[in-house]
Amino acid sequence: MEAVLNSREKKAKQIQSLLKVEQVVVSLKANIPGNEKDINEAYILLHIFSGILLNKYPEAKLNVFNSPEGPYCLFTSIGEDPHRLKKVFIEIEETHPLGRFIDFDVHCSDNSLSRSDFGLTNRKCLICEKEAWVCIKERTHNPADLTMIVKDNVHYYVKQVLEEVLVKSFLLELDLEPKFGLVTKSSNGSHQDMNYDIMKSSVFTIVPYLIDMYEVGYSVADVSIAFEKVRSMGKQAEKAMLKNTNGINTYKGAIFLLGVILTSLGALHQSKFSQDLTNIIQKMTSKILNELEGQAKTFGIKAYQEHKFYTARHEVYYGIPSVLEALSFLNRYQNRDQEALMMTLITIISLKNDTVALKRAGSITKYESIVDLISSIKTFDIDQISQVTNICVKENMSFGGSADILIAAIFLDLIVDHLA
Ligand SMILES: [Zn+2]
Repeated sequence: MEAVLNSREKKAKQIQSLLKVEQVVVSLKANIPGNEKDINEAYILLHIFSGILLNKYPEAKLNVFNSPEGPYCLFTSIGEDPHRLKKVFIEIEETHPLGRFIDFDVHCSDNSLSRSDFGLTNRKCLICEKEAWVCIKERTHNPADLTMIVKDNVHYYVKQVLEEVLVKSFLLELDLEPKFGLVTKSSNGSHQDMNYDIMKSSVFTIVPYLIDMYEVGYSVADVSIAFEKVRSMGKQAEKAMLKNTNGINTYKGAIFLLGVILTSLGALHQSKFSQDLTNIIQKMTSKILNELEGQAKTFGIKAYQEHKFYTARHEVYYGIPSVLEALSFLNRYQNRDQEALMMTLITIISLKNDTVALKRAGSITKYESIVDLISSIKTFDIDQISQVTNICVKENMSFGGSADILIAAIFLDLIVDHLA
C-alpha cells in the first residue's frame, strides 16, 4: 500500500514539475480494478490508446513510466485547448470498445478537469450497475473476477483487430493489378490452377490459424517452444488450405511468414513490449538455418544448397529485413493506394530473394533477367507494368514469395500504430 501511495505521489510531482513549463499535461493509464495492476493487458491498452492520441496529435511528446500501479504515459506539447482535449478523451472513453478500461486525465496549471465538469457521472462498475468506487469501497466483487473482465475484453478486441487487419492485408495485395504473373481479380496470371476466388477463399481459411498462432505467442513463455507449437499449427493450416482449394498451394509461404510474425507479436504482448518484434523473431528462429543442411526436402533448401539463395528461413532468421525494407519504402507514400503498393512490390521483387519465382523460372539466368526487367520500372506507369506483366505471363513467371513479403509489410503497416 505504501508503495502505491508513494508512486501516486511521485506521479503527481512529475506532473507538477512538467506544468511549470507546459500548459497542459495529459496522463493516460489503464483502468484496472483489482489488486493486480501491472498486467500485460495494461501495456496493450496503453499502446492502443497512446497510438490513438499520437494519431490525433502528432506533435505530442510521449513518456512512458512503470509503477506498482501499472504503467502510465504522460503527454506534453499537445498544443490543444484543455477543455477540447478532455472532450475528445471523454468521447474516446465512452465510445471505444475498450474505452472503459482507460483513464485520460487532463492536467493544467490551475486544476485538473474531471468528468463531472462535463456533466458526466462517475464510471460504472465493470460487473454491476453501481458506480465503480462504491463497489471498490464495499469490496462487492472478487478482485480476480474484475481483472478477468479486463483481460478477456482486451484479448477479444486484439484478436478482432488482428483478424480484420490480416484479411485486409491479404486482400490489398490480391486486389493489386496487373501484377507480374500473380493472380488478380481480372487475370489468373501465370497460374492455370488458381483464380481470384480460390485465393480469396484461402485467405478466410488460414486467417483463423494465424490468430491461433498469436495466442500461442501470447500464452507460451518460452519462444522456442512456442515456435515448435506454431509450426505444427502451420502444417494444419496448410492442410486446411489444400482441402479448401482441392490441393492447390495458394499461401504456404504466407502461412510461414505471417505465422512467425503473429506468434512474435503475441510474445511481444506477453513481454509487455519490453522487446523488439524483430528481436523476438530472431530469438524464436535462431536454429532454423540448421534445416538448410542435410537432405533438401523443399525447393527453397535446394536453392540455398545449390546457389546460396536467400530463403524464407533466412528472412525470419535475420529478423524479417525484406519485410522491414518494404515497410520503410511503403512509408514514403502518404496513401496506401495502387501506386504505393505496386512500387513497393517492385522494390520487393528487386531484392531477388523469391524462391517461388526461381522455381518457376527453372534457372537463375532466366529468373534474374525477368527480375531486372521488373526492376527497370521506376515510376508508376501502368502501361509499362502491363507490358512487363504480359512478358511474365508468356514466360510463365510469377512472384509468390514477393507477394508474401508485401502482405507482411502491409500487415505491419496497419497494426504498427496500435498493437506493435
Ligand atoms: Zn459492482
